[in-house]
Amino acid sequence: MATCYVLFGSNLGDKETIFTQACLLINNRCGAIRDVSAAYESEPWGFETKEWFLNRVIVLETDLVPEDLLDALLQIEAELGRVRYPDVKGYASRTADLDILYYDDRVIRTKRLVVPHLRLHLRRFALMPMCKVAPELVHPVLHMTQLELLRHCPDNSFVREICYQSNEKQ
Ligand code: ATP
Ligand code: CA
Ligand code: CA
Repeated sequence: MATCYVLFGSNLGDKETIFTQACLLINNRCGAIRDVSAAYESEPWGFETKEWFLNRVIVLETDLVPEDLLDALLQIEAELGRVRYPDVKGYASRTADLDILYYDDRVIRTKRLVVPHLRLHLRRFALMPMCKVAPELVHPVLHMTQLELLRHCPDNSFVREICYQSNEKQ
C-alpha cells in the first residue's frame, strides 16, 4: 500500500462538481481517499487564459503501481471531459488534470512518469495545498519539507484559499 498525493486542477466547466466526480472515480478505481486539502483559486501558470483554476490535493492510499495509477488517472481525466489538442504547444484549459505529486518517497524517472512531479517545487498552486495536508513531508530529491519548498518557491502568481460557506460544497 502506497500513500500518494495527487493534484487536481480544473479551469473549465463546473470545477467543484468535476472535483467531486474525480474523487468518486478515484475512490472506486485507485484506492481509498484519506484526505483532501482545502480548495485554492489559482492564476493560470505557464499560459494565458481568463479562466482561473481550482486546485486541490487528494491524499490517496493505493495498491496500484505508479504506472497503473497514472493510466487510471489519465482515463479519469478523459471521462471528465478533458480534451487534448495534439497541435497546441504548451498548456491549454482543461476540465480535469490529475498529477501525481508524490508516490510514497519513491523517485521515478521514466518516459511517461516523473515522480516527484518535475515542476511541483516551482508552483505555489501545488505547494499551498500540499502544505495544508502534509506540511512536514520531505521531498525525496530536494530534501526539503513542503513548508520549506513554499518558502523558497520563486513563483509569485496569485493563489488564494477558497472559503466556502457552510451550506456550499466542501
Ligand atoms: P505539467 O506536467 O507541467 O503539469 P500537464 O499536467 O498539463 O503539465 P499533461 O498533458 O496532463 O501535462 O500530461 C502529459 C504527460 O505527463 C502525461 O501523459 C504523463 O505521461 C506525463 N507525466 C509525467 N510525470 C507525471 C506525473 N507525475 N503525473 C502525471 N503525469 C505525468
Ligand atoms: Ca499538471
Ligand atoms: Ca497532467
